[in-house]
Amino acid sequence: MAKKISILGAGESGIGAAILAQKKGFDVFVSDCGTIKENYIAQLQKYNIPFEQGSHSEEKILSSDEVIKSPGIRNNAPLILKLVEKGIPVISEIEFAARYTNAVKVCITGSNGKTTTTELTYKIFKDAGLNVAIAGNVGKSFALQVAENDYDYYVIELSSFQLDNMYKFKAEIAILLNVTPDHLDRYDYKMQNYTDSKFRITQNQTPEDIFIYCADDPVTAEEVKKRKFTQKLAPFSIKNEQVTGSYINNGNMIIKLEHNEAVISTADFQLEGQHNMYNSMAAGIAAMACNIRSNSIRKSFETFKGLEHRLEHFLSVRGVEFVNDSKATNVNSVWYALESIKTKVILILGGIDKGNDYSELFSLVKQKVKAIVALGVNNKPIHDAFDGMVEVIDTQSMENCVKTCFLLADKGDTVLLSPACASFDLFTCYEDRGEQFKECVRNL
Ligand code: ADP
Repeated sequence: MAKKISILGAGESGIGAAILAQKKGFDVFVSDCGTIKENYIAQLQKYNIPFEQGSHSEEKILSSDEVIKSPGIRNNAPLILKLVEKGIPVISEIEFAARYTNAVKVCITGSNGKTTTTELTYKIFKDAGLNVAIAGNVGKSFALQVAENDYDYYVIELSSFQLDNMYKFKAEIAILLNVTPDHLDRYDYKMQNYTDSKFRITQNQTPEDIFIYCADDPVTAEEVKKRKFTQKLAPFSIKNEQVTGSYINNGNMIIKLEHNEAVISTADFQLEGQHNMYNSMAAGIAAMACNIRSNSIRKSFETFKGLEHRLEHFLSVRGVEFVNDSKATNVNSVWYALESIKTKVILILGGIDKGNDYSELFSLVKQKVKAIVALGVNNKPIHDAFDGMVEVIDTQSMENCVKTCFLLADKGDTVLLSPACASFDLFTCYEDRGEQFKECVRNL
C-alpha cells in the first residue's frame, strides 16, 4: 500500500509538495484550515489530489505516515503536538523535496539579507550559464521545481521556520549571513533557541561541503567557536583579512578557497551599504566554490540592481531623495540603512513593534537624523526611545507621513522609510507599505 502523506497548509510550498508527492506515488491529502487560493485549487484538481479547506480532519491526518507542514504553522499548534506525540514525522517541504534531487544546493539563511543574497547568488550562477533555479521563499517552490525540472543547482532561501523541520537535509553550500534578534516569539524568547535554529543550516554537512558565514557578526562568531565542524569553513569579513573565505582590501573583494584566489574590484558594484558588501562576499564565495570565474562574478555584481523595498532609491523630488526600505522590519536592518546614507535623514519608523531595542540606533540617529516621523497605530515605543534626542512627530496615514517628511526636509536631505517594525497595523504587508509610500511621494 502507498505511504500516506498529509500536507498541512496549501500555499506555494504545500502545493509543490503535494504535486511532487503525488508524482512519487504517495497517497496524498492536503489540508488547510483557511481558504485555499483559486489557482492552487485548480492545481490540486489538475493532479487529482484530495484536499480540504476551512478545518483539519484530525483523524485522517493522524493516520498519516508522514506530514509536510507549511513554515507558517507553529510547531506548538495543537495538531502538530498530537502528531509529534504519536511519533509521526513532521517535516518541511524542503526536507521532502531534497530526497528527490541530486543537484547542488546553495542554501541561504540569516536574520537579514536572505532574499537579496539569494537573488544575487542566483543571478551570478545564471549569468555564468549554469543550469540553476531559485527556490525557498522566492518564486516557485523547491518541491514543484524538483517535480517538473532537472536542474544542476538550486539557490534556496531558508527561514528558521523551514530549518526547524529539516533533519536529514544537507546543504552542499550553506550560507549564514547574520543572527540578530527577530521572531523571538516563536523561540520562547530565547536567543539561543533562535541561534540553534539558524545553525541547522550546517547539519549533516561532510568534509566536501562548505559553510560560509559572517565572521564580523558577534552571535555567529561566538557560536562557531562553541561548535566542531568537519566541513570546510569560509568566513567573510569587512574588518579582518581571512586565510580562507573573503575580505576587503583596498576596494577589492578578495576571495580565497583552497588553491584559488580571486581579486574583484568593488568600484562599480550596484548594491550599496556595508550589509550588501557582506551579502556580496557570501554570494561570491558560493560562486567560486562552484568554479565560476571571477570576471563573470564581477560582471554580475556590476549589473545586479537590488530589489524593490530594500534600500530602494526610487525618486528625488526638488532635491530631496526618497528611499524605500519598507522590508526593514527589525532594528538591525535600519542600522545598516542609516549607516549607508551619507546625507541628513528624515526617518520614518513604526508599525507593529516586536519588542524592539532601539538603543543600537542611538549613535547613528544623533549623527544623521534631523527628525523621526512615527507612522503607526501605537507610536509610544518610538517616543519612549527617541524623545529628547530628536524631534518625533506622530502620523497615522502614509499620505500625512510623506507630506510631513517633505516639509521637514531641506534640499540635499534623504527621507528614509526604514520602519524597524512589521506593517500589519496600517498596511496589508511590507510591499503594500512600500507601494503606498512611493505613490504618495510621486503625488508630492
Ligand atoms: P530577508 O529576506 O532576510 O528579510 P532582505 O534581503 O529582504 O532580507 O532584506 C531585508 C532588510 O534587511 C532590508 O531592509 C535590507 O536593506 C536589509 N539587509 C539586507 N542585507 C542585510 C544584512 N546582511 N544585514 C543587515 N541588514 C540587511
